[in-house]
Amino acid sequence: MKIEIVQYPALNDNYNFLLRDKDSDLVAAIDPSDFQGTKNKLHEKGWRLDQIWNTHHHPDHIGGNQELKQEFRCQLRAPEYDQKRIKGSDIKNKDGDQFEFGSSQFEVLYLPGHTLGHIAYHCAEDKVLFIGDVIFAMGCGRVFEGTMEQMYSSIERVKSLDPDTLLYCAHEYTLANGRFAMSVEPQNSRLIDRMQKVNKLRQQGLPTVPTRLRDELNTNPFMRTDSMEIRMNLKMENASAVEVFAELRSQKDHF
Ligand code: ZN
Ligand code: FE
Repeated sequence: MKIEIVQYPALNDNYNFLLRDKDSDLVAAIDPSDFQGTKNKLHEKGWRLDQIWNTHHHPDHIGGNQELKQEFRCQLRAPEYDQKRIKGSDIKNKDGDQFEFGSSQFEVLYLPGHTLGHIAYHCAEDKVLFIGDVIFAMGCGRVFEGTMEQMYSSIERVKSLDPDTLLYCAHEYTLANGRFAMSVEPQNSRLIDRMQKVNKLRQQGLPTVPTRLRDELNTNPFMRTDSMEIRMNLKMENASAVEVFAELRSQKDHF
């Protein structure tokens, strides 16, 4: 691994991340929810801050931006689409942008649905994806701004990455997501196993993030629109994958 990642909780159920490129010692903060939590973590590690990377404009992802910029004189990287909604961005990214952070190479994926500007940061070499609120362990983000089709396509794009990729999701929603997953696919033995592991972790107050893409492919209902068990439980045996996805998403909204 060329990069070192530090994960720490913020607000009620957010995760924030610090990323350090080991060769250059450059440090980025991903979606800092607030100033103090990130400042404290940087202090604890003895790191300065070179960049902030935002995935989307929601307050729990950008809350630390302005004070961190002032304190550390760092650059702000944010979605091009969100120029008006995220103040003071220095670097504007869109789909397919490649950039170097020290000696690490990142690619920007545009994944609309949760919001219309949502991007994710992918390091193919280290198999790491900062996914924001697109995918959570056994779940996905609410479709606030985009269409169900957009969110479905965004998730399909993530599904095509290397299954060993680690997804750094921005929230600890795993238990609630898992309960919903169990309600639509109760016979999935890998889901049952995973729920036991997740329950144990949460009982000990431990995080369930990051999550391996392979585990999501096996247990996340929003990635499993072709599962016959899910389709039968929804009475949608012959529906399109997007229709199954949309039904799952709206059922989860009211679960
Ligand atoms: Zn959000
Ligand atoms: Fe969020």
